[in-house]
Amino acid sequence: MTQSRRIVLAARPHGRPQPSDFRMETAELPSPGEGEVLLQTLYLSLDPYMRGRMNDVKSYAAPVEIGAVMEGGTVSRVLESRNPALRAGDIVLSHSGWQSHAVADGAALRKLDPAAAPVTTALGVLGMPGFTAYAGLLTIGKPKAGETLVVAAASGAVGSAVGQIAKIKGARVVGIAGGPEKCAFVRDELGFDAAIDHRAPDFAEQLKAACPQGIDVYFENVGGHVWDAVFPLFNEFARIPVCGLIAQYNSSGKAQTDRLPATMREVLSRSLTIRGFIQREFVDQRKDFYGEMTGWIAEGRVRYREDIVDGLENAPEAFMGLLEGKNFGKLVVKIAD
Ligand code: NDP
Repeated sequence: MTQSRRIVLAARPHGRPQPSDFRMETAELPSPGEGEVLLQTLYLSLDPYMRGRMNDVKSYAAPVEIGAVMEGGTVSRVLESRNPALRAGDIVLSHSGWQSHAVADGAALRKLDPAAAPVTTALGVLGMPGFTAYAGLLTIGKPKAGETLVVAAASGAVGSAVGQIAKIKGARVVGIAGGPEKCAFVRDELGFDAAIDHRAPDFAEQLKAACPQGIDVYFENVGGHVWDAVFPLFNEFARIPVCGLIAQYNSSGKAQTDRLPATMREVLSRSLTIRGFIQREFVDQRKDFYGEMTGWIAEGRVRYREDIVDGLENAPEAFMGLLEGKNFGKLVVKIAD
């Protein structure tokens, strides 16, 4: 019997998650059955969507039950295999959740080549967030050379890839990020044309000045006051892939319907395309994504930054910080060497 240290959902948060919404436990795992493998988690990905899984509301995915292990993508090592395609020692991409060990169906795992890229990239720039940026931007945003693209949460996993891919496509890219350090990274390391701090008191004026030709593509990661600043700047036929609304994830969910008529008037008069998406919709583009993104990283045209936190017990605090912008880059928890 293998013991797994795990973090379960202890209570459903109201507003911001609290430490008491999580509980650390130890559980005994069964031996792997036919086709299954025993996994040791090396790295756990922490992502904004996990906040939605803590609520018991109808959404595109089922909530985590109270007392169940928090969901999450992992890079894991195979300790024992009863699946002919995998051997002990293999490194795989799994969805083991917030726990040190798991038993999984071998058919659901993707084998990783640690020689090809650092394994943590399978959770970030070469994983779900990078793919979200690629598919959402190219399918819905369709940036053209000379157009202006704006993206918020610009130093993060999705936003950093969005801006760099848009640069590759020839767009002028303005990033929005929280604080001078993140803005400097976005401008100087990632090569965006401008970076604006959404915490600055004159944020809306600075954004307007940075977009003298208006905005043709806005990749929406945030919502809230960032949306309010961006909305007046849309050009005719602007495209708005709605990827995430992290500023609202801790709110009660009550709709603000009073501004809807004015918003719809602008959608009509400026012929805006506002289109939400969940990345798995574009699954048939994954192969193209791996090929192109791997090439861009090798050429130095796409850079990435990871924020690695040590220890499973620190996952709740790191996750709570993610919802307030305390991470700097793709947030990953190191669980084991
Ligand atoms: P990040 O690595 O960008 O981390 C989240 C960032 O969001 C924070 O660092 C912070 O950046 C910003 N943020 C947090 N709270 C606020 C706030 N109240 N107001 C403004 N900014 C805030 O996360 P990801 O790249 O993983 O995710 C980015 C977005 O993409 C999220 O909304 C997520 O839900 C969405 N997403 C959607 C997918 C889909 O299929 N539709 C798939 C994957 C992600 P800063 O300090 O710079 O403000």
